[in-house]
Amino acid sequence: MGDVIRTVKIKLDVPDERCDDLHQTKDQFLHCANTTAEWAWRHPNDYCITSKQTAENALYERLRDETALTANLVQKGIRRAIEATKSGVARLKNGDNTSQPHFDAWSVVYDKRAATFHRDHVSLSTINGRVECDYVIPDDAEGTPIGEYLLNKNYEFRTSTLQYDRPTESFYLHARMRQTEDTDQGHSTAFFDSEHRTVLGVDLNVDGSLAVTSTGAFIGNADEMNHRRREFEKTRGSMQQTGTRSAHLSIQSMEDREHRWMQDELHRASNRIIEEARDHDCTHISFENLTDIRERMADAKRFHAWAFRRLVEYVEYKAEMVGIAVAQVSPAYTSQRCSKCGFTHETNRRSKHQFVCQKCGYELNADYNASKNIARKLLKKLHSGQTSSGGGAPCQCALTSGTLNLNGEYTASVDSTAEGESTDKPKTSVAGH
Ligand SMILES: [Zn+2]
Repeated sequence: MGDVIRTVKIKLDVPDERCDDLHQTKDQFLHCANTTAEWAWRHPNDYCITSKQTAENALYERLRDETALTANLVQKGIRRAIEATKSGVARLKNGDNTSQPHFDAWSVVYDKRAATFHRDHVSLSTINGRVECDYVIPDDAEGTPIGEYLLNKNYEFRTSTLQYDRPTESFYLHARMRQTEDTDQGHSTAFFDSEHRTVLGVDLNVDGSLAVTSTGAFIGNADEMNHRRREFEKTRGSMQQTGTRSAHLSIQSMEDREHRWMQDELHRASNRIIEEARDHDCTHISFENLTDIRERMADAKRFHAWAFRRLVEYVEYKAEMVGIAVAQVSPAYTSQRCSKCGFTHETNRRSKHQFVCQKCGYELNADYNASKNIARKLLKKLHSGQTSSGGGAPCQCALTSGTLNLNGEYTASVDSTAEGESTDKPKTSVAGH
């Protein structure tokens, strides 16, 4: 039985300020493909390389360094060139005239790791984080490929391409949709249709622990990051005063070292977050929206904003590889709301890292409290179907009695008592017990 695959051309509504990110992603993607083609094409002096694995081994590291693309897009660029090389070799064998493949058409290949496909929008990985693009769907889509395939749950997304139409300056997703076999089960339909949903909430901080999860994991050390940053800036300041060429070079190498250290830290933190999500069978990870973070968090510096964005990005692409969705929710009141009784007031937060509810007396680490609210926000959103496809699937926050001075009394009552939003009470999970 062959696969039924249909291609649907969907116009995208790309935020103006993100168009350039897509163009640059395309440039770098084509750079990967062209570099690979040049390397692989050895005719007439030698055999051409047609093994994807050999090409990846030879070129992957270098192309990762040369571009700001995610691992997956670099790989796709290499593979695209190897496929073209293979067909070139086949033509040569046929006695046809051909030459080294070259890529200049505006096209980027997206699979489920580099993109999250929804029925009404797509989230695309770029050289500058993810960009969310709504689909431009006509009012009367019935009978068109959009109605027949895109909006049809019996079709699932396969590897697709992003293209650009220069005359109209419009981006199009050429979505390849495959008919699913067990059409009544719905196992392989859209991402958000999974049977159960468990959300891990993650609160990010400029001091104390870098990330605190709703399961009570305290991850990374923001204080150490701040300390290193201060030392670095001090040293840089005094070296800049000397102004010599060698001072300039030392500053450069020190900056590189700091940058690598920070990236390593963020990779480690992102791995811990993924582990935490997997340990608790989470289907989703929820962060606060990072827009305007510096206005919102008094002590947030430019490097914090950068670090947070990078961390979320790392989590996003690692989560995709293990089938976990990542979403951002509005940060409003997440630090003022009591995660036990729901009472929300600015006096609730007594000190930076200690939360005391003025109504029920619930007392806990303030970042841990916030992370539970962050999980709950996404849960509500999923439950009410505000995301691409809602439905009545059971939802739950991933919670645990946690560490620090917390004990069993909090357990999972948090996500079932304060909601009052649903007749189908979320299954409580005392994950970690
Ligand atoms: Zn309370």
